[in-house]
Amino acid sequence: MRILITGGAGFIGSAVVRYIINHTQDSVLNIDKLTYAGNLTSLDSINNNPRYSFKQLDICNQAGLKQVFTEYQPDAVMHLAAESHVDRAIDAPAAFIQTNIVGTYTLLEVARQYWQTLERDKKLAFRFHHISTDEVYGDLGGTDELFTETTAYAPSSPYSASKASSDHLVRAWYRTYGLPTLITNCSNNYGPYHFPEKLIPLMILNALKGFPLPVYGDGSQIRDWLFVEDHARALYAVITQGKIGETYNIGGYNEKTNLEVVQTICGLLEELVPNKPDGVKSYKDLIHYVKDRPGHDLRYAIDASKITRELGWRPQETFESGIRKTVAWYLQNEAWWHPILEGLYKKNDYGRLG
Ligand code: NAD
Repeated sequence: MRILITGGAGFIGSAVVRYIINHTQDSVLNIDKLTYAGNLTSLDSINNNPRYSFKQLDICNQAGLKQVFTEYQPDAVMHLAAESHVDRAIDAPAAFIQTNIVGTYTLLEVARQYWQTLERDKKLAFRFHHISTDEVYGDLGGTDELFTETTAYAPSSPYSASKASSDHLVRAWYRTYGLPTLITNCSNNYGPYHFPEKLIPLMILNALKGFPLPVYGDGSQIRDWLFVEDHARALYAVITQGKIGETYNIGGYNEKTNLEVVQTICGLLEELVPNKPDGVKSYKDLIHYVKDRPGHDLRYAIDASKITRELGWRPQETFESGIRKTVAWYLQNEAWWHPILEGLYKKNDYGRLG
């Protein structure tokens, strides 16, 4: 297959690109605007592979997209490009509306026009896979059922509302025009190459410097954590075996409170980096509770039984094995995260990092 991937320089997109180049014979064209969240060094390990290519492009640029489809002639699209950080959406929602809604619409239209020109066999085989989040379902009470593929949408934040809108557009393009679409809704990812402002890398890197570990509210919010490489495998299973028009939930069966996650990281650092920054007796002493995020969802938890039953996918990592790999990766890959942190300090964006 020739797969067009959007957002392949981001956290999950780069894991998908690495997975496809390393584990399949497919080719990838990665198109990415390279916003603050895009980082081509995450692709250094496969950058010279002849099956991989890159083009810097905004998915809102219709003419640019048309040219890419005409020249590359993709067999499938995996759409991951998005503005993805909830805190940034609360501060400045405009980019989320633009990229997540207008950008998805633009990509759908260009893909539809291209798909309509394909000859019969290629047309039947074509797939448009939209990668989305479990946050579109809103949040759950402590004892509620898990999110299934038929849970009603009830997004709470500008981020999740923009992702919900894009999911609706994708479903409409399937129902109205017959574009062969697939949608996946996944829980919180973690793992290598995660941008340093997100919870897990933020805590690891702040702890290493002896900085406070900011926990929203009382840290009781529950997330279902999935190792990013498990997500990449799931996405490949869906694009190759998924049924057109269907939605698949993807989750890790790893519900943890934010406080448990931070405490686990502190425990691993005690073991792996016993030589602590000056004045720090225990990493856990750095935990510091801050004012809760407005509209903060209490609990997300995914029922991923459909993708297991129908496509045979299940996560390979437990939270314990995945978080250990993740902490070890950040300890070994300062060359990746140090320049990003420097950039955030320079732009005075450090407020986000606690
Ligand atoms: P990310 O922020 O790390 O990466 C997003 C990528 O998209 C970046 O490389 C960025 O440069 C690119 N991009 C942004 N705007 C663009 C535009 N207008 N045109 C082209 N490229 C653009 O995000 P991520 O965490 O890798 O998430 C990828 C997708 O998966 C998103 O759609 C997100 O909603 C979804 N998702 C994320 C999680 C998670 O836990 N991170 C969970 C479920 C679903």
